[in-house]
Order: sequence, then C-alpha cells, then structure tokens
Amino acid sequence: RLYVPEPLAPGARRIDGAGAHYLASVMRLKAGDPVKLFDDATGEWLAVVESAGRRDVTLDVRELLAPRERVPDLWLVAAPLKKGRVDWMAEKACELGVARFVPVVTRRTVVDRPNVDRLRAHMIEAAEQCGRTALPEVAEPVKLAALLRDWPDGRALYFADEQGGAPARAAMKPGAAAILIGPEGGFDDEERAAIRATPGAVPISLGPRILRADTAAAAAVAVWMAAAGD
Ligand code: SAM
Repeated sequence: RLYVPEPLAPGARRIDGAGAHYLASVMRLKAGDPVKLFDDATGEWLAVVESAGRRDVTLDVRELLAPRERVPDLWLVAAPLKKGRVDWMAEKACELGVARFVPVVTRRTVVDRPNVDRLRAHMIEAAEQCGRTALPEVAEPVKLAALLRDWPDGRALYFADEQGGAPARAAMKPGAAAILIGPEGGFDDEERAAIRATPGAVPISLGPRILRADTAAAAAVAVWMAAAGD
C-alpha cells in the first residue's frame, strides 16, 4: 500500500525514488502483482505492476476501491518532544484518525524547531500502514501565545491538564475540536491561565496519574474519537 502525492486516475503511473525502492526492493513485486495506492484526493485505487526496476516501477492503475475517507474534525496541538517521542505521537495521531497535527512552542518546550518534513514522512508511513485514504496535515510550528490569540471561533480546545479538569469522557462533545498537550515539563502557571481564558477552552483530566506527553496525546485522541463515535 503506497501513498502517491499526485491525484490518481486510471492508466499508467510511473513510481520512482523511495516508492520504487519500496515496491521493487523491499516488497519484491514483479509484473502482474497487485498494489494499492492512495492519493489524499480521490481515495484508494487498485493497480497492477507492469514492470519493476529498482529505480523505476510502472503500474497500471485500474479501479477505485474506496473514496477518500471522511476525516473527523480533530486537531492534535502538542508541544514537540525529544527524540523519537514526537514521531511516536504523530504516528499514533494518524492511526487514531486526526485531521491535523500542530506543533506548539511553549516556555518549557525543549525542541523548538521540530523537523516538520520528518513528521510529514511519519504521517505518510502511518497512513500507508493503517489504511487511511487522507493524510493528516502537519502545520508549521506556532508559539502558544499566537495560537491562543488566533484561536478559531467555534472550535473547542480540550486542554489536557494534569493539575485537574473535567473527566475527558464526560467533557468531550462531537464537533470541531482540538486537543492541547504540553511538553515534558508541562505548562507553567501563566500559560495555564492564558489557555483557560481562551474562548472555547475546556480543561480536561485524563485521570489521577501524570502521563507522559505522548501517552496523554494518544489517550486524549482515543477518548475524543470514542465520544464522537469515530
Ligand atoms: N514528565 C513527563 C514526560 O516526560 O512526558 C510527563 C509530562 S506531562 C506534564 C505533559 C503533558 O501531558 C501535560 O502538559 C498535559 O497536557 C498532559 N498530561 C499528562 N498527564 C495528564 C493527566 N493526568 N490529565 C491531563 N493531562 C495530562
């Protein structure tokens, strides 16, 4: 199963670069083998390999298998974390169905220049693996103050606060929403007050234990998806 950035249509499609390497060298596909492709525009297609070289694979795109999915209107807004933790968080957010990942820079954020291209690559890999036909958008990093100042009307901001809030399952309602997760060191008091004063903000608790930020992100997204029936 492979993502292609250009919209798909029936007919011949040439794949090169990493996609060709994956199909020919990793999956060892040969002429006649089936491949599933998706493009974040039309949906998922069945294709058949016509020729496979290490640098260049030609496919015959045949049939639309499924239209692009309906994406639940949930953003994950989270401080970038150290090492592989932010990659794990992005991967799980994609698997769980979020529409958008927004890296937010806070006072205690350790990594203030997250590698957005790498996060986008992780989203693609996760989408290929989990059967999504839409790619979550990865936004450019934004400072917390700017994020709160420009917060869109009508979008709930579920602020995961380990210092207390309404139980997440009871507080989360269907509708346009975002989940806000802090960095390893949490938000400071001033940030916490600014978030709580933002129209649409709803402080939520994920239980009595202090979760790692990446665990908190996956748990909060899963609870929202369950509450929204997605
Ligand atoms: N030091 C650990 C780490 O390295 O990840 C824990 C960090 S915790 C302070 C990071 C963020 O996870 C918090 O800012 C909050 O958004 C969220 N969080 C953790 N536990 C939570 C809980 N029980 N309820 C709500 N949010 C929680």
